[in-house]
Amino acid sequence: MPNQDRSENIKNTRYGEGKYRALFMASRDAVMTLEAPSWKFTSGNPATVEMFKAKDEAEFLSYEPWKLSPKLQPDGRASDKKAKEMIEKAMREGSNFFEWTHKRLNGENFFAEVLLSRVEYDGEAFLHAVVRDVTEQKKMAEKLKEQEEEKFRTVFDGASDGMLLMDISIKKFYLYNKAICRMLGYGPEEIKNLSATDICSKNDSAYVLKQFDRLTAGEIESIDGVAIKRKDSSVFYADITGSKIIISGKMYCLGIFRDVTEHKKMEEELKNKYEEIEKEKEETRLLAQNLEKFKLAVESASDHIVITDAEGIILYANKATEHITGYPIREIIGAKAGKPWGGLMDKDFYVKMWKVIKQDKKTFKGEIKNKRKNGQIYDAETSISPIFNKNGEVEFFVSIERDITTVKEIDRAKSEFVSLASHQLRTPLTAISWYLEEVFDEKTGKLNKQQKEYLNEVQNSSRRMIDLINNLLNLSRIELGTFAIMPRSTDLVELAEDAIKDVVLQARLKKIKIEKDYEEGLSKINLDPKLTAMVFQNLVSNAIKYTPENGEINIKIKKEGENALIVVKDTGYGIPKDAQSKIFTKFYRADNVRTQDPNGNGLGLYIVKAIVEKSKGKIWFESEEDKSLPAGRHGTTFFVSLPLGKAESK
Ligand code: ADP
Repeated sequence: MPNQDRSENIKNTRYGEGKYRALFMASRDAVMTLEAPSWKFTSGNPATVEMFKAKDEAEFLSYEPWKLSPKLQPDGRASDKKAKEMIEKAMREGSNFFEWTHKRLNGENFFAEVLLSRVEYDGEAFLHAVVRDVTEQKKMAEKLKEQEEEKFRTVFDGASDGMLLMDISIKKFYLYNKAICRMLGYGPEEIKNLSATDICSKNDSAYVLKQFDRLTAGEIESIDGVAIKRKDSSVFYADITGSKIIISGKMYCLGIFRDVTEHKKMEEELKNKYEEIEKEKEETRLLAQNLEKFKLAVESASDHIVITDAEGIILYANKATEHITGYPIREIIGAKAGKPWGGLMDKDFYVKMWKVIKQDKKTFKGEIKNKRKNGQIYDAETSISPIFNKNGEVEFFVSIERDITTVKEIDRAKSEFVSLASHQLRTPLTAISWYLEEVFDEKTGKLNKQQKEYLNEVQNSSRRMIDLINNLLNLSRIELGTFAIMPRSTDLVELAEDAIKDVVLQARLKKIKIEKDYEEGLSKINLDPKLTAMVFQNLVSNAIKYTPENGEINIKIKKEGENALIVVKDTGYGIPKDAQSKIFTKFYRADNVRTQDPNGNGLGLYIVKAIVEKSKGKIWFESEEDKSLPAGRHGTTFFVSLPLGKAESK
């Protein structure tokens, strides 16, 4: 049957004549029929012809249903396949209502709602389709959505916090405001394609997504301090508050981001500051504890301890100060150091002291005389040290003084005793010597060889004893301050020759060569001859004593500038390095000579130094102990420099 006839037939059979036909023809809805097995349209009313922009029903019927659709439906499926499925469903279930995109014959697409209904007529089943063009409604709905979005966006963009609307099902961003674009560094178009994981650091994303779910579920109200990744991969910290929101029936999660980086930084800084303060507090506490200990130690020290400022004004004084000086603390604080109890020394002493502590910035040590409040004079050993600030300037002085009056008294008593004992011992010893000489000279009868030998020993011992007693007497004189110097015109060469005479015998026995080198025309100097003679005696006798056999000693006297220089050089044992600083100390003897010569008392150089210094001279030495050096390369040289002054003959 030709198509035209068939369609006529269907129209007649399906819609018949009369009422139904009129309904079919007049319906505003597009009504059509489709029939198995090809499921082509078999009729279409004028609304259908109109909707599909066909010339007439015949043209409409000449197209298969899927030809009146675009190739693909919006969900991406092929129209022909999907159309067949829809038809099958309607046939199976009796009806099927769905959305469909159709294509008009002029090529234009339109959205439609389609209701397919299965109809049984005359034992035959066919489909009755009603197609409604919903393009306008769709547009309206779209517009409404846009309007709704617009409203949101206005609110969004006005906010200073970053806002993101996330589609919960796909975790993609749907809406965003300017602030979040700024925060993240993405343009609006870029944000649309991002999902939550793109703005979280990898390590955090699982945790953050979980928190988002909890936020949407209303379990929590915010996620604090989340590390958010910007487009340039830098990170800022945000507190995110969130809530569930429904737009056009769809669920979203609205996240409001507040950049708390600065806040976090400040918090961090505050935390660090707090920790620093706590540390400082702890240090101060420890310092205070230590200070307390120091204070206790200083307070209870038996020495008088005073702290002054750089100008010497007393800032602190311990209890001993009060006790020793007799001045109460309240009178001491604020006073000039030394003022209450000092000032008894000569001007030179104070000038030297201030030079050492203020100019040289070193510790000054010395003995000083002070006066207690009750007028009593006392001796003190003092040590004043400058204390520096960070810039190396003197900030304080600490002065420690020890009252040595008692010690001095004991020393004095000891020296007096030594002096007395020496005097008393010297008288019988002189008698012994005198009588010995008489016997030795055989004035009392002839002596046999052995007697002479023994008497020689006795004489040597008594000489040593006299030497020792003389030394002890000199020592007590030095310590008692009764070491009087009586200068007169003195010939140094004469004194040297006398000293050599005393040792000639000994030198000969030890085969020691004595060389002399006296500068010609050396004038006499004003010195105490007895004491200066002791200087020569000691140095020359030591040189012989501490030089082994076949050695050599050299005595030189020359003028050097304003001074006479005495040089006594030997090729002896030398002075060990560790002993060199001690040999001018009384009773000190170096280990290397003790075994060589047990007959020493360690007083000689102590006395020599005292004499030289009293004579305003200087004494020093150079010494090489190393025995591996060839003879002549080791040994000791003593130098004594005495001011020439003006010779005065008496
Ligand atoms: P004494 O000679 O009685 O021991 P001194 O006071 O004269 O005492 O000397 C002190 C010490 O100095 C000596 O014991 C010795 O160790 C050292 N000494 C002094 N002169 C010399 C010297 N010429 N060579 C080596 N050591 C010396």
